[in-house]
Amino acid sequence: MLSIKNIEVVYNDVILVLKGLSLEVQEGNIVCLLGSNGAGKTTTLKAISGLLRPDNGDITDGEILFMGTRIDRKDAAEIVKMGIFQVMEGRRVFKDLTVEENLIAGGYIRTKGEIAQGIEKVYTYFPRLKERRKQLAGYMSGGEQQMLAIGRALMAKPKLILMDEPSLGLSPLLVKEIFKIIKQLNEIEKTTILLVEQNANMALSVSHRGYIMENGRIVLDGDRDYLLANDDVKEFYLGVS
Ligand code: ATP
Repeated sequence: MLSIKNIEVVYNDVILVLKGLSLEVQEGNIVCLLGSNGAGKTTTLKAISGLLRPDNGDITDGEILFMGTRIDRKDAAEIVKMGIFQVMEGRRVFKDLTVEENLIAGGYIRTKGEIAQGIEKVYTYFPRLKERRKQLAGYMSGGEQQMLAIGRALMAKPKLILMDEPSLGLSPLLVKEIFKIIKQLNEIEKTTILLVEQNANMALSVSHRGYIMENGRIVLDGDRDYLLANDDVKEFYLGVS
């Protein structure tokens, strides 16, 4: 479904951050991208979603294909329309809008009827958002804002969701809840998910496949069981040896 081939990203014309990165996401899968701070995970998502582009000098080599079409020269709005939606790190929601207004904004490419259906669907996944639907998003807790950020993605009915560290700053209990929902989105809605995470244990527990990146390159990839059994992964990412 998504194919990244030898992509290179340069920041400010000088710093090479992605150094020929390649990865594949098969339709129907959850694929996680793991790696330490600064490895280039967020940069990879930005290259896919059109926030980094060749015509701005950010992407200097390689190509990105989505369902057979090259998307690396398309802008972010076109890429959303094609069915790719990014849930940003730090739960970007409109803080001065209510929960429900945020959801409506998330469905801006859909019809009125689809928006109404979408809101009901989001509320079945996140009953807490229904209880708080009139509340300003800025007053919600971190976990609730993360739920809202994922709810907004659902409103766009994407084929592929890019998720940047959904566990960041959440209590272990909430992390479990969020990951349970990520799994349901994949199983019930058939949404394909590319998941960037520092929490390798949690991410691998829901993923079909994973990629490990270091310093702008993929250093290891494989299916979940292969990665869970790998000694380097155990030592450096899972905290067991
Ligand atoms: P983290 O887990 O800490 O978020 P990451 O793997 O997502 O890390 P990126 O955010 O992709 O890493 O950053 C990769 C490298 O690019 C880092 O060294 C970072 O300092 C640098 N970088 C990121 N954004 C910019 C920018 N706008 N301008 C210059 N350098 C940047």
